[in-house]
Parts: sequence; C-alpha cells; structure tokens
Amino acid sequence: VLAADAVATRDQPPFDASAMDGYAVRAADLAPGARLLVAGTSAAGDRFAGVVPPRGAVRIYTGAPVPPGADRILIQEDCTRDGDHIAVADRWDSRAYIRPAAGDFAQGDLVTAPRVLGPADIALLAAMNVASVQVRARPQVALISTGDELVMPGENPGPDQIISSNGLGLAALLRRAGAEQRVLPIAGDTPAALHAAFDLSRGVDLIVTLGGASVGDRDLVRQVAADAGLDQAFYKVAMRPGKPLMAGRLGPVPLVGLPGNPVSALVCGHVFIVPAVRAMLGLPPLPPRSKAPLAVDLEPSGPREHYMRATRDGQGRVTPADRQDSSLLGVLAEADCLMVRPASDGHRRAGELVETWTI
Ligand code: AMP
Ligand code: MG
Repeated sequence: VLAADAVATRDQPPFDASAMDGYAVRAADLAPGARLLVAGTSAAGDRFAGVVPPRGAVRIYTGAPVPPGADRILIQEDCTRDGDHIAVADRWDSRAYIRPAAGDFAQGDLVTAPRVLGPADIALLAAMNVASVQVRARPQVALISTGDELVMPGENPGPDQIISSNGLGLAALLRRAGAEQRVLPIAGDTPAALHAAFDLSRGVDLIVTLGGASVGDRDLVRQVAADAGLDQAFYKVAMRPGKPLMAGRLGPVPLVGLPGNPVSALVCGHVFIVPAVRAMLGLPPLPPRSKAPLAVDLEPSGPREHYMRATRDGQGRVTPADRQDSSLLGVLAEADCLMVRPASDGHRRAGELVETWTI
C-alpha cells in the first residue's frame, strides 16, 4: 500500500512520438500518387536531427520522436517505397498516429496514497522514473488455534479429533487483506499451552486466537489472556454467528479472540479482523455493502444481527441457505455473499431489498 504520494519526474512520452511504423510527413503534401523525398530516418532511441522539408518524408518507427515539420504519420501500408522516394497510395488512413508529448502523464502528476499498488501501478511508477516509494509494512498477525481435538491437515487424527481449519482459513483471509501471518502450533486446552502461544506471539502487530472462547470449562482463552495482562475492551457481540467474541490489548498488542466454530471464525474475520488490518495499512475499513432483492419470504429474525450465508441467482435475487449452523463450512464455501439482517428484523417478503455483502 502506497503510504505517500508519488510524483512523476518526467513527461511520457517525453516528445511527440510516432504510434506506427511509416513516414513522418506534412498532411498538406498528401495527395493520391504524390511522390515525397525521404530525407532520413527517425528510430526509437535515435532521432532524426533535421526538419521534414516540404514534399519530404522521414522514415519513422513506433516510439521514435516525430521530427519538426511533420504533423502526421503516413503508415507504411499506405505508400510504396521507390529508392529515395515514396509514392502515396490512392487512399490513406486519415489518423495522425502521433502520441503527443505528456499524453500519458506529465511531470508533476501524482499517484496518490493510500493506494493498493497493483501491476499497472508498479509499471506506471517505473515509467514515471519513481525508483522508490514509501509503502506500509504488512501487519504481522499471530494466529493461535486452540483445542485438544485439533490436528493439522495432513496429520492422522485420533478417533475424537478433527482437522483444524480455522487457522488456515484466517491465514488466507489475512493474506488477501494484505497482512502476513504467523500460524502458531495448535495450543491444547491448558493454561501452559496458551501462555506459551502468547509468548510465541511477541513482536506481532495483532494476535488472533481461535476457539476456546465460549463458556465451557475448557474455554480458557479469556482467563489465560487475563492472567497474561489483557486489558479487555469488550466480550460478546450481538451478532450471529460470533457471539463469544472478545477484544482487548495484551501490552501494546491488540488481541481479538474469535469463536471456534469455523463459520463464526471466518465471518468474524471478515467483520472484525480485515478492517483492523486495513486500518493498519491506512486503507478505508471495508468494501461497501449493497442491496439486493430477496428471492424468498423470510420469518422474523432473532435479537442479534445475522450474517446469513446466501447465494444470488442470475437476476441478482438473494436466497439464504437453508442451513445456517455456524459449523457448516460447506455451506459457507457454496455461498457467494452474506445477507445481513438487522437485529429483531420483522417478516420479509420476496422482492424486498436486503443488505448483502460480497465476501
Ligand atoms: P470452542 O470455541 O473451542 O468451544 O470451539 C467451538 C467449536 O469449534 C468446537 O466444535 C470446536 O471443535 C470447533 N473448532 C475450534 N477450533 C477449530 C479449528 N481451528 N478448526 C476447526 N474447528 C474448530
Ligand atoms: Mg475448544
């Protein structure tokens, strides 16, 4: 992400340049069958030093400076060469084929910050002869998955175990948002394991824990974080999925405790973690949400804002998935948007507009 405006140090093109291979001529000299004397050559990187004389022409190649006197390029397909002369065809392409000086950008033009630099921006900055730019460092985020039941993909789970998906899903989300991640080893459900994970997080810009956030006896994250000195900002949010979310500061480092259910973890990642990363990068927090018509009727909703997994049909009408349990990764992967229902929303009829959020 560009952190300070970059300034073009030159014009591009730096001179009127030919857009085609052909002959630099005076438009007034063009007539069917007219013979023009070829006075020299202007190549890219090696200009013709003189002026194009009346009833003259200069052989010219794409990107070469257009010599004074000429006001258009006769493309080579529109004439025939005959020794020192060219003969103009009966008809010719009437475009000038001259790229005016500074037609792309001028000295002093800006690439303004903040801006995510894509391939075209990098090429533009290079063309501007901006050899170095000030950028934001990618925030470093520690991801701590917790749970005795978890093993990493590729390992052999025991009979009571499942594969840890959240850490990798969050890592992908963070990478897309512009952060770098430190995916720490899975922490078992013991205070010692969690303390060790916090120790391994030293030096990062943001700590994200996954799981261990609800109210079971083995949900230790809040307790261990408190013992480690967490300055808690809030615990529990009025949204579905994701109620037992926690946020605070561990020393200077912000910490967000995400719920363990995979869909909760990812949806809360979109709602809370991506905006945090974007703020650290100096970017506006979130892509805007939009409105789409409902394809179906909906029953009244509960007291929490609900981020429903949904799909849009060919007409842009949105249908929430039948199954909204926060453990169902398959449903989330099939969804193409989240449909956001406000808390305590009433009956909704097909055709009414609802808020959707492309993720
Ligand atoms: P917890 O918040 O630890 O009670 O976890 C809630 C649910 O999410 C439990 O069913 C966990 O097994 C599951 N879960 C927790 N962490 C992960 C993870 N990293 N990957 C997949 N499932 C998880
Ligand atoms: Mg757990």
